[in-house]
Amino acid sequence: MNASSPVNRSFENVDPATGAAHSLVHEADDHLVDRAVTAARKATGAWARTPVRDRTAVLRRAADLIEERFEEFVAAETADTGKPVAQARDLDVARAVANFRTFADVVAAAGQESFLTDLPGGHQALNYAVRKPLGVVAVIVPWNLPLPLLTWKVAPALACGNAVVVKPSDQTPGSATLLAEVLAEAGLPAGAYNIVHGFGGDSAGAHLTAHPGVDGVTFTGSSATGAHVMRTVAPRVRPVSFELGGKNAALVFADADLDEALDGLTRSVFANTGQVCLCTERVYVQRSVFADVVDGLVERARSRRLGPPRDEATTTGPLISKTHRDKVLGYLALAEQAGAKVLTGGGVPRLGPELDGGSWIEPTLWTGLTHADRPVREEIFGPVAALIPFDTEEEAAALANDTDYGLAASVWTSDLRRGHRVAQAMNVGMAWVNTWFLRDLRSPFGGVGLSGIGREGGASSLHFYTEPTNVCVHL
Ligand code: NAD
Repeated sequence: MNASSPVNRSFENVDPATGAAHSLVHEADDHLVDRAVTAARKATGAWARTPVRDRTAVLRRAADLIEERFEEFVAAETADTGKPVAQARDLDVARAVANFRTFADVVAAAGQESFLTDLPGGHQALNYAVRKPLGVVAVIVPWNLPLPLLTWKVAPALACGNAVVVKPSDQTPGSATLLAEVLAEAGLPAGAYNIVHGFGGDSAGAHLTAHPGVDGVTFTGSSATGAHVMRTVAPRVRPVSFELGGKNAALVFADADLDEALDGLTRSVFANTGQVCLCTERVYVQRSVFADVVDGLVERARSRRLGPPRDEATTTGPLISKTHRDKVLGYLALAEQAGAKVLTGGGVPRLGPELDGGSWIEPTLWTGLTHADRPVREEIFGPVAALIPFDTEEEAAALANDTDYGLAASVWTSDLRRGHRVAQAMNVGMAWVNTWFLRDLRSPFGGVGLSGIGREGGASSLHFYTEPTNVCVHL
């Protein structure tokens, strides 16, 4: 667990796989946050005036440099989160590279809106919108996919000509710090990327969102924190982009390719130990194949390999912290109280002296829960899912949409029309058919309801990180 010290204002960074502290992190107080925002402000003008070609060249160099230092980033991400190195390579660090390249491409290719307006008497007016960077953007991100989530925001913000002050999670400071070195080496001017470490409330996060010099806030994290940040920013009426929690459903129809569906479900329930905002925690299965899906998913859950993150064969790491594990264990207890049948898992594994100090948990599956039960309604953010049978397509869609969240859903069916129909009926930002987590970084990403406000990705990112000035010329 991280412990803050009022004396030297630093805190320990703990390896969740072992429970051992591996580094000490400096906590930014309000003065340091102020210096970071001031440095960003100073950098904005010149960086915003830098030609797009040169700005995007910096992003491309950053992508190349991350590739050159790939294993350093993998090591940082693994040390902070305990995630298996194989995943850190294939997902976390690879996605960071893709983020820089994609947003360099998107910004380089971006055009401008213009309208020729017919006026009485045969005259015309030309309207065109000039997009300008917001200025200083606060970027606040969580611990689950530290580098992908950070670069998903930093890359478009910088490409659009903003300066950023980033606040990573106190639990995952490493890769954001390495990124500062890479961006400096890539040629980003001093002050355009600033990093402040620390916690949320009464620490770096709160100081940053409350700072009057911040022109926009992009935040990824829990819905409760999002609401808090919104209240902090509200008096200054600044743009916010919120990517928040989820309680995502998978819908498995009897006509699905069950092997494909089971492999997909295994990823969507257990990837990153269930700590992805897009992870599935509710699995609705058509009754005629319910038993087959239950058996298949239980078998796959039991074959997850928990072990040292640096072991290439490990598929499942620990949860991020003991505190988070206590939360997940609380939901396991609630599920049992509600009468759930625990199909597999349900507790803390014993992995030997090297790992028993870590925040490990067993992949867990339940049947027997209903929509009245909290484990089916609330985001747990662990390697857990409830399996619930349904009879008709309408019933499945209604169950999936019976939530305050609205981030993602996945539909498994061999009926193409049904796939489109059900996916479109989902009240979510992203719906997949016969896949999960497949992303084109140019497409809109975000959620409805408690899952967020706004979209990022491709042109949506350009819209958030810039403000248009419309120029109307009477011709
Ligand atoms: P969190 O809300 O506790 O923290 C997120 C970030 O906000 C951290 O950097 C934290 O220090 C900071 N923070 C906390 N309180 C703050 C405050 N008062 N003012 C300013 N900053 C503050 O979330 P978490 O536990 O780190 O992450 C898990 C959550 O993130 C889950 O709910 C998950 O679904 C969500 N998430 C969403 C997406 C998405 O794209 N929609 C992606 C990943 C994670």
